[in-house]
Amino acid sequence: MSELKLFNSLTRQLETFTPVHEGEARVYTCGPTVYNFPHIGNMRAYVFADTLGRVLSYKGYKLTHVINITDVGHLTDDADAGEDKMEKMAAEKAQSIWDIARHYTEAYWADIQALNIRQPAHWSIATDYVPAMIDYAKSIADKHCYELESGLYFDTSTVAHYGALARAKTEDGEGRIEEVEGKRNAADFAIWRKTPAGETRQMEWDSPWGKGAPGWHLECSVMSEALLGLPFDIHTGGIDHREIHHPNEIAQNQARCGSDHSGARFWMHNNFLIERSGKMSKSSGEFLRVQLLIDKGFHPLAYRLMCLQAHYRSELEFSWEGLQAALVRLKRMVMGVANLKTQYADTQSRHAELVSASIVPNAPTVEADAWTLKQVQGDVVGVKGDVAPAISATLKDFTAAVMDDLNTAIALTALETLISLKKINVADQLAAIADMDNVLGLNLMALTRQDLRVRPKAAIITEPEIEAALDARKEARAAKDFAKSDAIRDDLIAKGVEVMDGDPLGWDWKLDI
Ligand code: AMP
Ligand code: ZN
Repeated sequence: MSELKLFNSLTRQLETFTPVHEGEARVYTCGPTVYNFPHIGNMRAYVFADTLGRVLSYKGYKLTHVINITDVGHLTDDADAGEDKMEKMAAEKAQSIWDIARHYTEAYWADIQALNIRQPAHWSIATDYVPAMIDYAKSIADKHCYELESGLYFDTSTVAHYGALARAKTEDGEGRIEEVEGKRNAADFAIWRKTPAGETRQMEWDSPWGKGAPGWHLECSVMSEALLGLPFDIHTGGIDHREIHHPNEIAQNQARCGSDHSGARFWMHNNFLIERSGKMSKSSGEFLRVQLLIDKGFHPLAYRLMCLQAHYRSELEFSWEGLQAALVRLKRMVMGVANLKTQYADTQSRHAELVSASIVPNAPTVEADAWTLKQVQGDVVGVKGDVAPAISATLKDFTAAVMDDLNTAIALTALETLISLKKINVADQLAAIADMDNVLGLNLMALTRQDLRVRPKAAIITEPEIEAALDARKEARAAKDFAKSDAIRDDLIAKGVEVMDGDPLGWDWKLDI
């Protein structure tokens, strides 16, 4: 298999991936701050990290992936300004932080599942690591930190090339507006935030610097080191983290291990999903989250496909039309795979008939060897042995694309070419599709056309009612009673049902809400 090239934000270049530990890939992904539902932009970051993990597995590495859950310490501003997001939400909702954290962590996990994102080896919960964070801070405090009334601060001038990842000058780094009195450098950040005198925080711990809570940047350094060891292979996050959060993590890692040490060999960042009407803001009433897409009748994997259609380093503009187009594309793939499964089942039953009529000996067919029905259901995948040149050509294109800094847009076209191949060994074809889908995560081997027909929450008509109306319409048309058939159609349209006569995808109707 060709070399895996990845874009390293540290060097702003494509580099060949070679692992720190032979045969392994260790990846850390900055997880969500669980003070609210994630929006679909946040979820783009995890689709990206998941795709990266799947490509590493495809390449044969034993993957250890860690995603953290930030349930303490993230302020409303990524630098040191503002309130703790968790404390703020808990006060607004008059609930305990622990309940808020549990609720939104579960909601995030539901989105992870809906988008077919594989479970990482570890979900590291920040509050589980507070004692480790205190030990870590103690180990770097003397040489790299200073204490102010509000907390323990990291002195960014004590490490070489602070902010190199951001390509920012330390004095005017973005987001450093609300200055803390006594800070030695504008970019210095709190690694421990003391509870102000006379206040009680819901989440606070004793420390050598007084009662308080850890800083957000400290969390990721501590958890990545604890679970993956330093250096590990790849650290991921959204592009906003390239500016403050990751430079700060790197500074801490340097303090711990020496100036040459950023902690991870590759730092990779996904670009943003953008939406111009402001619906992605968590403060807008109906904000764009995965459940909203489902409520509007979109299967969540259409959103995954939408993400994969763009390169992870490009901005991606969200639109409902774009999502609809992705859903139609997904349907075409699902129907293509369904046809191949039917063809495969036919070859199996034809073979069984020939065996029972003693026309062929009771030996397994080539297809049965390579591809059992169990495999078709998605349990096992893998192209075995030689396959037809047309199949191996698509596999080659697919592999070259994903090895080229995860070019999923091109990989998708290779998959579609493979699905549309005719008159080749269908078992091999299915096996190759399953291999590709294992990387793209569209769940093509299991999804059915029916699964993709998600009922919009606001729908006012049931499926049996629609089917009955369509039957009546068919009868009316057969009897050439066009007034009646048009009336039925108008009634359906009024109820939000689009009637699709002769749709090439075989959909008779669609709820259009
Ligand atoms: P947060 O919960 O705010 O820490 O964000 C979780 C992840 O989502 C981080 O990796 C962010 O960089 C990323 N992120 C935030 N907004 C967007 C967006 N609009 N598009 C893509 N990724 C985003
Ligand atoms: Zn982080």
